Amino acid sequence: MSENKLSNMLSDELHEECGVFGIYDLDGNDVASSIYYGLFALQHRGQESCGIAVSDTNGPKGKVSSVKDMGLVNEVFTPESIEGLKGDIGVGHVRYSTAGASTRENTQPLVLNYVKGTLALAHNGNLINALELRHELEYTGAIFQTTIDSEVIAYHIARERLKVANVESAVKNAMHKIQGAYSLIIMSPRKLIGARDPFGFRPLVIGKRDNSYILASETCALDAVSAEFVRDVLPGEIVTITKDGIVSDTSMCQQETARCIFEYIYFARPDSCMDGVSVYNSRIMAGKILAQTYPVDADIVVGVPDSGNAAALGYSEESGIPYGMAFVKNSYVGRTFIKPKQSVRESSVKIKLNVLKEVVKGKRVVMIDDSIVRGTTSERIVRMLKNAGATEVHVRISSPPFLYPCYFGTDIPSDDQLIAHNNTVDQICDMLGANTLGYLDVERLGEMLGSDMGYCSACFTGNYPIEPPKDNIRGDFEQ
Ligand code: SF4
Repeated sequence: MSENKLSNMLSDELHEECGVFGIYDLDGNDVASSIYYGLFALQHRGQESCGIAVSDTNGPKGKVSSVKDMGLVNEVFTPESIEGLKGDIGVGHVRYSTAGASTRENTQPLVLNYVKGTLALAHNGNLINALELRHELEYTGAIFQTTIDSEVIAYHIARERLKVANVESAVKNAMHKIQGAYSLIIMSPRKLIGARDPFGFRPLVIGKRDNSYILASETCALDAVSAEFVRDVLPGEIVTITKDGIVSDTSMCQQETARCIFEYIYFARPDSCMDGVSVYNSRIMAGKILAQTYPVDADIVVGVPDSGNAAALGYSEESGIPYGMAFVKNSYVGRTFIKPKQSVRESSVKIKLNVLKEVVKGKRVVMIDDSIVRGTTSERIVRMLKNAGATEVHVRISSPPFLYPCYFGTDIPSDDQLIAHNNTVDQICDMLGANTLGYLDVERLGEMLGSDMGYCSACFTGNYPIEPPKDNIRGDFEQ
């Protein structure tokens, strides 16, 4: 097992797998710098590697320039490397590995040369049938360069393209075969294509700036490049952007959808809006529901940054208990502390987060956090509050207890590693050293969205929208 994998397993933080960004400037201007800033806004979705691939729609077909490597966006790209990426169409990707090793070969966008030209592909999500599809392809002679499921998608599109008239039809044919979670951006020599799986697990939005069309995981990336939000790509929809504008194919759309509700609770940035629901508003609502279901006499409500802050504000508004800022987060913690080894974990929480003693000393504190995975981080934060003089710490969690793993593009681990799987709420409360503990009721989860859209809550309920795979799809294919 690689050191990365081991430290990822030991980490008590959850990770989104990826963020994607694509742009086609119909006026022919270079797009690499816009992709850079788009990826910068999506950095929270993946911090292990990133990449940009661009092409010139007026140049020779099949010429793609790309830069990709391990590291954060501002570590991988330099002004010179962005300057060297010439082209009016391009895709970008930030990655955290949940399927396939964390190595340079597995960085995206994937660029594939084949008889019809070149494809560049950026994928957010996890396929649940990637292993079978990969074995099928290998038996027909395919040689894989990476160990990620995204390459299986790229191969399928390339193969299908040999049978059909255009790349968007090839994407549709590939979608008939692949199963699971995927939001895709595909660059062909003359087209930019966005596709979202029929359940819509992961978000994908369309934006426009002047004569440029943009596809991105979240609206915060549109804001970063001064683009206007046009609309969400529908679950199951394929959008094709060419010189003539956008063409939509909704023939793969289905009645049942399953957007990841944990995007709203934790993964997405609060300034993003997905499928018509503001992430910030949904977190405020989660806090209000918590205040209704788990009220307590206290002096101050505080949120664990960042995703606990809005829920804490909601709890405060509903309960009338004053909202306060108890934590200072070090935003400049680099990669060293993103995946700390077990030996430095104790200090890594304190390095990332410090308590404002003057805010909590002598107070009964309601502490709101988004989730508890293994419990180690929450226990340390409760201890930090008590060490700083809080007389009581009442923990409120803006999601239901995690009971089941996720197979759809996040690293919520196997159930034996989830504290709530083997312990009651009272036992967890004791383990955290908290005075009381309350989780968001799973029955009220939908209320936080304020919408009747279909959502996935399988990590809380075990009701998977698609039959979960029997194999471990989240390891390396070589294992
Ligand atoms: S299982 Fe949980 S984290 Fe995974 S897609 Fe469903 S709601 Fe999101």
